Amino acid sequence: MTKWVYRFGAGHNEGRADMRNLLGGKGANLAEMASIDLPVPPGFTITADVCTAFYDNDRNYPTDLKGQVDDALVAVEKAVGLNFGDKNHPLLVSVRSGARVSMPGMMDTVLNLGLNDLTVEGLATAADDPRFAWDSYRRFIQMYGSVVLGVDHHRFEEIIEHAKLDNGVIEDTALTAKDWREVVENYKDLVQQETGKPFPQDPQAQLWGAVGAVFGSWMNPRAITYRRLHDIPAGWGTAVNVQAMVFGNMGNDCATGVCFTRDPSTGENMFYGEYLVNAQGEDVVAGIRTPQPLSASVAKQGEIPLEQAMPEAYAELMAVRSKLENHYKDMQDIEFTVQQNKLYMLQTRNGKRTAAASLRMAVDMAREGLIDEAEAVMRVNPASLDQLLHPMLDPKAPRTLLGKGLPASPGAASGIVVFSADEAESRAAKGEAVILCRIETSPEDIHGMHAARGILTTRGGMTSHAAVVARGMGRPCVSGAGGISVDYNNQILAAGGKEIRAGETITLDGGTGEIFIGSVAMIEPAMSGDFGTLMEWADKSRRMGVRANAETPMDAETARKFGAEGIGLCRTEHMFFDPERILAVRQMIISNTQPARRAALDRLLPFQREDFRQLFTIMAGLPVTIRLLDPPLHEFLPHADTEMQEVAESLGTDIETIRRRAADLAEANPMLGHRGCRLGISFPEIYEMQARAIFEGAIAVAKETGKAPHPEIMIPLVGMKKELEITRAQVDKIAAEVFAQSGTTIDYSVGTMIELPRAAILADSIAEVADFFSFGTNDLTQTVFGLSRDDAGRFLPQYVEAGILPKDPFVSIDVEGVGEMVRMASVKGRATKNALKLGICGEHGGDPASIAFCEQVGLDYVSCSPFRVPVARLAAAQAALGAESDRTA
Ligand code: PEP
Ligand code: MG
Repeated sequence: MTKWVYRFGAGHNEGRADMRNLLGGKGANLAEMASIDLPVPPGFTITADVCTAFYDNDRNYPTDLKGQVDDALVAVEKAVGLNFGDKNHPLLVSVRSGARVSMPGMMDTVLNLGLNDLTVEGLATAADDPRFAWDSYRRFIQMYGSVVLGVDHHRFEEIIEHAKLDNGVIEDTALTAKDWREVVENYKDLVQQETGKPFPQDPQAQLWGAVGAVFGSWMNPRAITYRRLHDIPAGWGTAVNVQAMVFGNMGNDCATGVCFTRDPSTGENMFYGEYLVNAQGEDVVAGIRTPQPLSASVAKQGEIPLEQAMPEAYAELMAVRSKLENHYKDMQDIEFTVQQNKLYMLQTRNGKRTAAASLRMAVDMAREGLIDEAEAVMRVNPASLDQLLHPMLDPKAPRTLLGKGLPASPGAASGIVVFSADEAESRAAKGEAVILCRIETSPEDIHGMHAARGILTTRGGMTSHAAVVARGMGRPCVSGAGGISVDYNNQILAAGGKEIRAGETITLDGGTGEIFIGSVAMIEPAMSGDFGTLMEWADKSRRMGVRANAETPMDAETARKFGAEGIGLCRTEHMFFDPERILAVRQMIISNTQPARRAALDRLLPFQREDFRQLFTIMAGLPVTIRLLDPPLHEFLPHADTEMQEVAESLGTDIETIRRRAADLAEANPMLGHRGCRLGISFPEIYEMQARAIFEGAIAVAKETGKAPHPEIMIPLVGMKKELEITRAQVDKIAAEVFAQSGTTIDYSVGTMIELPRAAILADSIAEVADFFSFGTNDLTQTVFGLSRDDAGRFLPQYVEAGILPKDPFVSIDVEGVGEMVRMASVKGRATKNALKLGICGEHGGDPASIAFCEQVGLDYVSCSPFRVPVARLAAAQAALGAESDRTA
């Protein structure tokens, strides 16, 4: 016989906290609390398996369920000395849903079940309090009427409002037994009117009605949507808890409250909660009366803390608090009721908390000896660290929403709207805070993005140029805000009938993707000591290295500050847009002959050498991976006539020639075109100049500091072994030349990005000529899926919404497909070269789920934007600890 019903309380506990899959969170914890001798009113849990069986069997219950429920109910009756439906001593119960994770959208609670026109009289006599009995009855009809019978709850509220008006009172508490009796009559009429049936009087019918409503609500549209958004399988089902009622509304020695064992917003080790005297259930959160604090130490003038009102119950609650924390070893969110000065526990669960609180509690609890350091590392969600590293919108500040896009780079920023990078730069130089608003950004906009406080684009996904660069710079960014239009000509931002003109202020929240009109108050990040402590503990636990994607000295410094152990990707093309260099870059591209190109490259050489010298200095002895030029050359071409004219004049030619050359370079599909190592093969002088700059820069730093850098030179977009052979030979040739000229030798390595499927498939042969692989999962995702990373933002959200893809594969690695490529290339690469160093430098290197995957595959390091370095350090530690516990399990 399947056991469908589990009892708890009154010394008979059949469940435990670790049975939440079967009993739901609420049921499992009620049993657990009862088994550690906390005062839990007795009851029973109908398992989540019943829910599954109910749906599998055309909405019919298992045949033996009724018998098991009857038996459990009899046990509760015996435990409390009352009988269900008894007109003199009625047992009343609560019926509450409880899935294995808490799930809004489902039927929640029905209290006082078992009351009817007869038992209400019995309750009035037994409690010697008719007012209490009629108040309880009307609450029951109200809850049951709305959640089980589907009557709009406002209709019930209206009846109470009328009763208060008719009786000339303001508070519910001023209504008398007679008033509540009238309310009950009106409620019953309402139910009859709305449902065509009288309010059910049979307690058994009431019970099964409520149980059916809980199971029914598992499949209501709100619950289904919530499950879809949170990856909760429908097959989990929900449990139902039936529990003897205790009453917080029996008079002034009764109360009900909710509390957290520590402050859920700051994490401080203080008791935090609220209660109401003579109240029941939802009253505390419903805002009917102002709840009062628990502890005297935090009570303001005029408030009456529980500590003062009911000192015995308070003392008992304090003891429960420490017992629960010691038992669960985590902050608990508790519901309690005091009936005639006696405390009862109705719920406990791990409390929700802010990122800051989560960090503080983890560190405090480890220091208190409640948990160990590794457990503290596991407690903090790495993604939430983002919130602590950037300014945030003050949650209490008022705001007006303009629109929403993708949360492309975290943090919040307010500033005036500008539509061009140049204007962003010039107005920022005058000290103005600006938000750069573009349809999309390109490498030419970097200076404006840098000058801006935040970036908004109306097109592009999470790996669009704007998103990648903004994350790298630590600028908040909202990308792909399709509901907003940018009108460059009229300098207007428009959405939903609202218009914002250039110079007017908006606020971005890059953590949520929201855009607000005007400025919204912010809270600055507090890099408290706890942060550093947790990071130290994380570093002790992790196996993989964490590097940063950085090219400017500022990014490199930020990366070091956040604990990066080197640079995993320096995108050299970002260095070419500086106004001092772009002309030489353009001259190089426009030139038709090799000598002319070399002349232009010679002008770039000193700039590049200085770039690398600075990076090597900042990274002092740590590895620096420098990727040679990658994007198609036309990305550097001039667009405006003035720019074309400038290039034409510098080359002694006319603007038409420039236009023609630009047209020649245009490609139908530049992402799959003349880029990456293909450029190095067509124009060897480009890679030669870059290699020279790297070696000369490295030698300069070795001489200046006595510490030789270790450059790792990386060739992009390799698909064939031959490509790497040829480009590697170019690098080796220059190395030999520079070493001979300078009389100094530097250790260096040459490796490749693995970002094309062909490279992954042939990784064993490519590894013969590579010292390392770095997985470029941005391009690899693009090429494995055949999905343009610049255009996918238009339809990917729809794919995720429809469940075709679980997540945006440009954000979190597609383990099945792209991940399989990474795994295969790792295995093949290491089969050729056991010590082949393996890393990842696509955006996935900063995503916790992808980092866990990298740990499984055995990569040596991850590399991500500087502001994500702490996130990656923590995620890498959790991945290593997780892998360890998998091994020992
Ligand atoms: C990649 O493709 O994953 C990568 C890191 O290179 P980029 O984003 O510059 O193409
Ligand atoms: Mg790439």
